Amino acid sequence: MKPTRNRRTAQQRSLEERLAAAKRSRAVQDATFRARQAHGKLRRFVSANFRKQEVVAMLSLRRGECNRCGACCEILFKCPFLKKHRDGTTTCGIYEDRPNQCRLFPIEKRDLEEVRGSCSFYFIEKPIKLEKAS
Ligand code: SF4
Ligand code: SF4
Repeated sequence: MKPTRNRRTAQQRSLEERLAAAKRSRAVQDATFRARQAHGKLRRFVSANFRKQEVVAMLSLRRGECNRCGACCEILFKCPFLKKHRDGTTTCGIYEDRPNQCRLFPIEKRDLEEVRGSCSFYFIEKPIKLEKAS
C-alpha cells in the first residue's frame, strides 16, 4: 500500500526533527569539548608554573615519546607559532622559548582527552606502595 500524503508529511517531519536533534546534540558535545579544552589549558598553565612538585609526580607516570603531530598546539585554537610540514609532522616556531605548559604536555592522563587520541604518550597507573617487610 502506498503511503498517504499525510503519512509522508509526518515521516518527513519526523526525519527533520531527528536531524535537528542530532545537530543540537553535536553542538552540545562540541561546546562541552571546547569547555574541557579551555579548562585544561588553564589547569596546565597553573600546574606547569606553580605546582612543580605535583607535576614531577604526575610525569613519573608518563610513558612514550612525542610523535610531533601538533595536536596539543591546536587545543581550542591553532597556535600562531605552529608550523606544519608535508610529511604530517609539525614544529614549534619558538621551540627553545616555548612556555612550560607546552614543554610538559601531556602532564596527566586527562590531558589526552583534549587531543582526541592523537597523542602518542600514555600514562601508567600509580604503583601500589609496598608495605615494609618486618
Ligand atoms: S608555542 Fe610552540 S609548542 Fe606551544 S602551542 Fe605554540 S607551537 Fe605548540
Ligand atoms: S599531542 Fe602529544 S604526540 Fe602530539 S605533538 Fe603534542 S605531545 Fe607530541
